[in-house]
Amino acid sequence: MAEKSNDLNTICVHEGELPSDQYKSVVTPLYFSTAFDYQDQPLDQYPRYFNTPNQIGLNQKIAALDNCESGLVFASGMAAISSTLLGLLSAGDHMVIQNSIYGGTYNFVANHIRDFGIEYDFTQGLNANDFAQKIKPNTKIIYIESPSNPLLQIVDFGAIVERAHQANILVVIDSTMGSPVNQLPAQYGVDVIIHSATKYMSGHSDILAGTVACSKELSDRIAKRAKMLGGNLSDLTVWLLDRSIKTMGLRVDAQNKNAMIMATWLEAQPQVDRVYYPGLTSHPEHTLAKSQMCGFGGVVSFELSKKLSPVSFLNKLNLIKRATSFAGVESTALIPALTSHVLLTPDQRAALGISDQLIRFSVGIESAEALQNDIAQAF
Ligand SMILES: *Cc1c(COP(=O)(O)O)cnc(C)c1O
Repeated sequence: MAEKSNDLNTICVHEGELPSDQYKSVVTPLYFSTAFDYQDQPLDQYPRYFNTPNQIGLNQKIAALDNCESGLVFASGMAAISSTLLGLLSAGDHMVIQNSIYGGTYNFVANHIRDFGIEYDFTQGLNANDFAQKIKPNTKIIYIESPSNPLLQIVDFGAIVERAHQANILVVIDSTMGSPVNQLPAQYGVDVIIHSATKYMSGHSDILAGTVACSKELSDRIAKRAKMLGGNLSDLTVWLLDRSIKTMGLRVDAQNKNAMIMATWLEAQPQVDRVYYPGLTSHPEHTLAKSQMCGFGGVVSFELSKKLSPVSFLNKLNLIKRATSFAGVESTALIPALTSHVLLTPDQRAALGISDQLIRFSVGIESAEALQNDIAQAF
């Protein structure tokens, strides 16, 4: 297994704290002001510029968590993704992008990015050669997502970075499914690390936010465009997200353990045809996952036996809720063919390996026994 940072929980709790000189509070105060007295040093301090006191504190925590020089916090994962791509690419540039990615990202690229004069090619495969074959002289970014959603496929960070950097291409990752607890792509040279903080960073299904971590030079380029796009997070939510992250290490550890137990248990059930979880030895990229991750996350996908209807199975669950998001402390499940991937044709879904029997299960922190009982009665 990749090695876990000893400092993770210390960073989660303390990094970016703002001292309260007046009242000596243990918790960072919330500064709601949108205007700041610049005295004799004109400094553009304004929420849309990502530089209010609470934003600066959380930006610093994000940078430390993802092991990068700079961090930026956005109003959503999609604001982080679109601002990064529009900040780093210009008309005439080209990018190579994985096809098995978050639906919103797929839609932004396939239906919007050409309007800005940016070209792209999707890769069908996930290994470094599949990406390298699509590189053109004007390629500026290789965009990856690992583990992928919903099949938890793993992309080799080191191999992709090597091919990209040889050609002066930046590697951008959507690391949401991994979380900063389970993987640190920056250690492999990945240039920009994006998270939908709506997922593991928030962890309670009550905050929409996104983050970007990278070098100061790249974050200045992204911020320059992002200031105009206006996708900053409100300071109240910045404060709430900072509080949620304090327990992220503990929560994700508990989810890693629970998901491993549930994946192993599901694999042994006659009502289940196949389980997708990078922690299982049956996962095709298990060895790679073990080498670049220090935990495998809370999402387990599985194919129900053809004898069972996935819709009636989901409707019979009591404890586990039917919901489209994931990574909360409460367990949830969905059918990708009817939700996240419903806009694809059956052929497109088949090409991605997403069957109608597939269930995506986000494992929370309830007892594994309670979750097993709920699933067993729904079978
Ligand atoms: C949810 C998600 C996003 C989008 O994030 P929002 O916060 O909903 O905008 C992007 N990538 C991945 C992998 C996600 O799971």
